[in-house]
Order: sequence, then structure tokens, then C-alpha cells
Amino acid sequence: MRIMVQKFGGTSLSTVQAREHVLRHVKRELEAGLSLVIVVSAMGRRGEPYATDTLLDWAAQNGNALSAREKDLLLCCGEIISATTLSSLLEHEGIPTTVLTGAQAGFVTDDNFGNARILDVRPVRVLEQLQLGRVVVVTGFQGQTENGDFTTLGRGGSDTSATALGAALRAEMVDIYTDVNGILTADPRIVEDARPLTVVSYAEICNMAHHGAKVIHPRAVEIAMQSQIPVRVRSTFADTEGTLVTHPEGFQDVQTGIVDRYVTGIAYVSNVTQITVDVPGGADRLQLKVFKTMAENSISVDFINVTPSGVVYTVFDSDSEKAIQVLQEIGLKPQSLSGCAKVSVIGGGINGVPGIMARIVESLTLADIQILQSADSNTTIWVLVKKEDMVQALRALHASFELHL
Ligand code: ADP
Ligand code: MG
Repeated sequence: MRIMVQKFGGTSLSTVQAREHVLRHVKRELEAGLSLVIVVSAMGRRGEPYATDTLLDWAAQNGNALSAREKDLLLCCGEIISATTLSSLLEHEGIPTTVLTGAQAGFVTDDNFGNARILDVRPVRVLEQLQLGRVVVVTGFQGQTENGDFTTLGRGGSDTSATALGAALRAEMVDIYTDVNGILTADPRIVEDARPLTVVSYAEICNMAHHGAKVIHPRAVEIAMQSQIPVRVRSTFADTEGTLVTHPEGFQDVQTGIVDRYVTGIAYVSNVTQITVDVPGGADRLQLKVFKTMAENSISVDFINVTPSGVVYTVFDSDSEKAIQVLQEIGLKPQSLSGCAKVSVIGGGINGVPGIMARIVESLTLADIQILQSADSNTTIWVLVKKEDMVQALRALHASFELHL
């Protein structure tokens, strides 16, 4: 059996017209002789019926008193509606289908409701149904604990369902269908001339996803990378093949001259707060105490610079009030700057190339953008800017590295 996993995101399923495109991709692969497993997200975006955020808003409007366990039960409905809707469409076209929930498809997770981690995938029933010649439609984003409670996998969780299932089934390809033409050099909603990449390595896209590129969930890429399953990110609304995600050796199979780039793309995370704590006299125990306090209060920290005179780091805006409060409680006087954005220039080739940082500073300076903080690793250079400068910073950097070419 040649197995292919297709994952369709929310906007790919929300209208009759979009579902016609889905049907086209399904028929094409069936005609090519593949056995298909289709992973679906909930239909549409916030405000549309049955979208995940709509269900969350519904819970909030009705007392907002659901426990995490019960909230997951509610959220599972979105994908069930979407999977049965697609099944009905396929059956109408004479394509035999079986719908399986995350639990029925064999997703076993821990009990961290709302953000559960996949512990195992046992796709016995998926294989049974494929062997019967049926298309299997699986509700993405969800699983079940060992003792039978429904769980959800967190934002972008359907991507993870798709690659985890692809790995468990040893699929020959996992296609992630979405509303853009693949992985682009930047978010096309912000950088209009962003260009689709033909091929990227697991590491490159993992890095972009971790730094905010929401086109695919980083966990999904990690799972694909571990099991070396090729992934394509492509548009539901076109026939182009989108971006192939593979290991660098796999690049040779793709006819392209662009793999020797040093910058792959630019990503961003908005809504972060910069926190500065001065530690007079270089009392390094206090620096340790700052991070211990953050950890004890489950506040995730990023962009950390430790110097002899203090520490600077960022937290999400939503955590900043609490962060300040707990620092004050241990006798420190933190300063904070909310409404910042972290802009990242990402590329495996950045390491050791002279002049990259100079180019970043030059292009931001020319655009009159203040750099609040910066850091680098061998694959990424980050700069922190004010949120109102973010769009311009992304465009300036994209142009400066000629990513549109
Ligand atoms: P889906 O519902 O199909 O999972 P998402 O909204 O999760 O769709 O992901 C697709 C969106 O990701 C695009 O509409 C685009 O705005 C955004 N995006 C952010 N960065 C990138 C990037 N580098 N390349 C492509 N899309 C990106
Ligand atoms: Mg998504």
C-alpha cells in the first residue's frame, strides 16, 4: 500500500467552494493509486460557526466555568463536524469513507488538557479501513488519554496529528494544504512580495516555525524530521506543489538553484514585553533568582541577555503583569516595555558570514527603526523592536536580503 496523508486547514474546509478544491486533490491522488488518510481541522476562523475560536468564545459567553477537561470535550466537536461534512461530500461522489476521531485513530496523549502531548499513535483501525479500500477521514488536533478522556493538542495541533499519523503509517508523503502557496520567505499578509520556497530542510522550517511563522507547527516538523517523512506545504486553491520539506540530501532530487542561500526567511513574534532588572554590584545570585522566580510561576522567558549589571529578557505581553508582580515581591525593581515584537532573520548559512549583522543594522537604521535588543545563534539573528515598527522592519529586512528575487 502506498499511503499518503493529506491535512486540510480551517480555511480549506469552510465554504462549499473550498471543499470543491479539497475534492479535486482527493480525486487526483486516488487516481494516482494512493491510499488516503485525510486529517481535518475545524472549519473556518473565529466568528464562523464550529471554528475552534468560536467554540472557545461560546464557552466564555456561557459562564466561562468549564474545566480544562470539559473544554477539550467541547473543542473536539469542531473537527468532528468538519470530518463528517467532508465524509458526506466524498460519499456523495461515490468515494467510500470512514471517519475516525483522534482516539479511534489511535492517538494516545498525556492528560495536559488543552495542550496535550502525543505519547503514541496506534493506527490499527486506520490501517484496517485503508485495507478495505476506504478513504479514512481523521479529526485532527485531538487524542485520548490512556484512561479514555478526550484531549486537544493546542494551536496548530492538526499539523502535528498529520505528521504523527504519517510517521506511524510510514506514509510516503504528508501534504499540508492551507491558504497560501507553501512556505514563503515571510508572512505574505505582511510582506507582499514574499516568495514561495521550493524546498526547505526540516531544520530551517522548524527554526522559522519556532520564531513565529505560523504556516506549520514546529512540533509537526520535529516529528516528520525524526521519522524522515517528507512533507509538502501547499495551497488548497492551486495545483502547484508548494514547498517540499525534507532533509538536506533530499534537495538533490529537486531541480532548483536556490538551495545555496544563507538567509531562508524572516519571521516575527508580536506582543512581547521587554523586562529589565538591574542587579547592582553584580550580585549574580539575584540573576539566578530572577529566572527561578519566572520558572516557578510558569512564565516562559525568551531573548535573555545576562550582563554583570543585570538581566534583560522578554515575556509575552499576557504574562508581563504577573512577571512584574512576582519580581517586586522578591524585592527587585524591574522596568518593563510592553508592545514589542521579535523579528528574526533565519538561515542555516548565517553562521560566520561577515556583514550580516551590519546589513541588518544598516537597513533598520535607514528605516528609522530603533533596535531595543539583539542576539544571534548560528542559524538566526533576532532583533527586538517596538510593535509599531514591526511591519516596516520585516519589509526592510526582506528587501535588504533580496528575498523577493
Ligand atoms: P491553516 O488553517 O490552513 O492551518 P494557518 O493560518 O495556520 O492555516 O497557516 C497559514 C497562514 O500562515 C498563512 O495564511 C500566512 O498568513 C501565515 N504565515 C506566516 N508566516 C508564513 C510563511 N513564512 N509562509 C507562509 N505562510 C505564513
Ligand atoms: Mg495552522
